[in-house]
Amino acid sequence: MSLLDPAIRADFPALEQRIRGRAPAYLDSACTTLRAQPVIDAMVKLQRGPLGCHGRSAHSFGRATSQAYEGARETLQGFIGAREAREIVFVRNTTEAINLVAWSYPWRPGDTVLTTDLEHNSNLLPWQRLARQGRVVHRVLRVDPTRGIDLDALKKRLVGVRMLALPHVSNLFGLRFPIAEVVRLAHEAGAAVLVDGAQAVATHPVDVAALGVDFYAFSFHKMFGPGGGGVLYGRAQQLETLRPFIAGGGTVESATYDDARFEPLPMRLEAGVGNYEAVAGGAAAVHYLQRIGQQRLHRHVVELNRIATQGLSRVGRVEVLGPPDPELRGGILSFYVRGMDSEGLARMLDHSAGIMVRHGKLCVHAWFDAQRVPDAIRASFSAYNTPDEVKRFVRTVAGGVDMIG
Ligand code: PMP
Repeated sequence: MSLLDPAIRADFPALEQRIRGRAPAYLDSACTTLRAQPVIDAMVKLQRGPLGCHGRSAHSFGRATSQAYEGARETLQGFIGAREAREIVFVRNTTEAINLVAWSYPWRPGDTVLTTDLEHNSNLLPWQRLARQGRVVHRVLRVDPTRGIDLDALKKRLVGVRMLALPHVSNLFGLRFPIAEVVRLAHEAGAAVLVDGAQAVATHPVDVAALGVDFYAFSFHKMFGPGGGGVLYGRAQQLETLRPFIAGGGTVESATYDDARFEPLPMRLEAGVGNYEAVAGGAAAVHYLQRIGQQRLHRHVVELNRIATQGLSRVGRVEVLGPPDPELRGGILSFYVRGMDSEGLARMLDHSAGIMVRHGKLCVHAWFDAQRVPDAIRASFSAYNTPDEVKRFVRTVAGGVDMIG
């Protein structure tokens, strides 16, 4: 057993809520994690402290804000092993990070973007839209849900590809992609690699320089941090080539009525006054996560997933999606119950037992429709979940299945 001490729950004030008199079992952390108290404290401290504009004002409040903002950038740089602080671009979330690359990359006629068939809509729709406008050709590589990516097949499909965009960890199955090998193959083929790290950063130490990725995107709200803040990492050489798709205040050294000269990285890519609160919260989330340890958190969620998977294996009609071994699914357990409506089951779990899970097509509509699977339930685990909550979840699902006979 390698579970975290349940005392950690005291760090998450949302757990003080009661749902019809009982403590909530929040099993939807793949969607968004609960916010940790040190994150909330850091945001409040920033708001109550000397707050001005970053990078623009020479006065005391402005300088204090710049210092806090750039300090946070260095924290994030260290967190993912970027070589330089200017390689960290603050954005709203993973979705914005991917769009920033998609809409700013110097595409050439006939460029091809390859994604997998397991992409979250945030790493599918931008490429799809670019393709519709005739700016790139978009191709899709099929991934076996149980065995994962086939590197030989990938190698063949990479011929002529300009950019490969794929998840580090799938939000559908929890399946992890071997990014270092993928990057090696892609670079051999002359393709850049963008990694959607939204589901990876909380439980996997990431070293972007060692992995060799060109771009890496993630959101603070999936690692105990606030909404509205995230990072686009880009290798400096790659970021330099982007033509910012949002231009405006804070991005230029000089401007005339006809033209503008852009600031160096990363300012040129951070138009408008940033979300200082989210950035402060993001840096606090990094410190908090580092205190827990990403690998310890990974072992904790795998252990809970094992209890859940074993429990559900004894419940009839349940079909687990992805690899059967919970070790390969991290903190994610997606399943459906044959003959049962997922939304109905999700509502029943909440109503009768205070258990919150995600249901539907999990922002991977294309996969569900292609596989003719109508929808699924996703239970996802994090630091504050306990074996008792997981057993309550299994019992309640079993009770629901019993009712339909
Ligand atoms: N990619 C993956 C794999 C995700 O799980 C999510 C969040 N569900 C996103 C992208 C989008 O993240 P955000 O909403 O923070 O932009």
